[in-house]
Amino acid sequence: MADSSPIDDAPPPAAAEANATYDFSAAAGPLPTPVIARIAAACRNWRGCGSALSLPFTSEACRELMRDTRARMCRVLAIPGTHDVLFLQGGASAQFSLVPLNLLGQAGSAAYLISGYWSRRAMEEAGRYCNVRALDWNGASDWEAPWLDERRIAYLHVTSNETADGTQLRELPHARVPLAIDMTSDVFTRHLPWERIGVAYCAMQKAIGVAGLTLVVVRRDLLGRARAGVPCVFDYAAQSTNGSRVNTPPMFALFVAHAVLEWIDASGGLPAVSTALARRSRQLYKVIDSCASAFHADAPSAVRSPTSICFDLRDPHRARQFSDEAQRRGIAGLAGHSKTGGLRAANYIGTSDAAISRLCDLLADFAAPR
Ligand code: PMP
Repeated sequence: MADSSPIDDAPPPAAAEANATYDFSAAAGPLPTPVIARIAAACRNWRGCGSALSLPFTSEACRELMRDTRARMCRVLAIPGTHDVLFLQGGASAQFSLVPLNLLGQAGSAAYLISGYWSRRAMEEAGRYCNVRALDWNGASDWEAPWLDERRIAYLHVTSNETADGTQLRELPHARVPLAIDMTSDVFTRHLPWERIGVAYCAMQKAIGVAGLTLVVVRRDLLGRARAGVPCVFDYAAQSTNGSRVNTPPMFALFVAHAVLEWIDASGGLPAVSTALARRSRQLYKVIDSCASAFHADAPSAVRSPTSICFDLRDPHRARQFSDEAQRRGIAGLAGHSKTGGLRAANYIGTSDAAISRLCDLLADFAAPR
């Protein structure tokens, strides 16, 4: 499904770039500049269907939009036919409950790899519905769990990227039970081992969209196990059978995701996008490490997150000076997560080279001897 307006990858005019404020908050990712321009135009009129802000999901154009979004996701993430793609609502937090409610089946327990703040949150929520077995991550990039008993443990939940702690599981574990993955803060940055995955889910506002759309990729043979009483809109099998149209899908969020997927395709697909993201994260970590008199990043280099770059000032007394200087240079959103503190720069798919360069300049200048 190609839109009539071509994707314009040209950088914005230098003057606009210089005046832009770059927000590094982890809560939501920036959309690529050309995508914003397309969406702005579509808010007035999209292909003669009216505003993209009020798309009727019952129309053929919207059905096609959903079909094409699903097809592009499957292509970009290499999702095999064994898995179905669901478009839901409620954010990743809703999935903390819906994964156990949909997947437990006869097994009374699930295992949770605890690697940081978000995996703990997921486990605490699941504890309301089943026995949870907490497994402590030892910080290894290739943590494995071959001993889990598939007769008693329905799935092993992992958080592929810990947004608050700044760590990423480079290798997803091998286990005899299916993996349930919260991929909210590193989806669309790498390929996943679908043959090991029972369900992978994410809120979309960080990677390729705006809040409102939750992506759930579930292995088809795990459908139909929902606990009695699960609301129909949250029953994976019901949503799968009905093409994610049990109720009104979040059409605008889907529209935005589709526009970003078109941009990813036009930019060279997942390899190009993830190479650019890795380059930006290397650039930033390099500056942090080389400015060791002023900053430190504590995550071990083997598991440093490319998307959630957590660091801190050596001298807390300079915090005010740092935030004033950041503000003066048009840099916002550097505060770390409220529970972990420190500083953090999100480097999501839509983060620009110009934003990272400006942040690197700030760090280098701040660390320079006075
Ligand atoms: N999981 C992870 C890894 C996250 O980073 C977040 C949000 N920062 C969530 C879950 C929760 O997402 P939401 O607020 O969309 O429910």
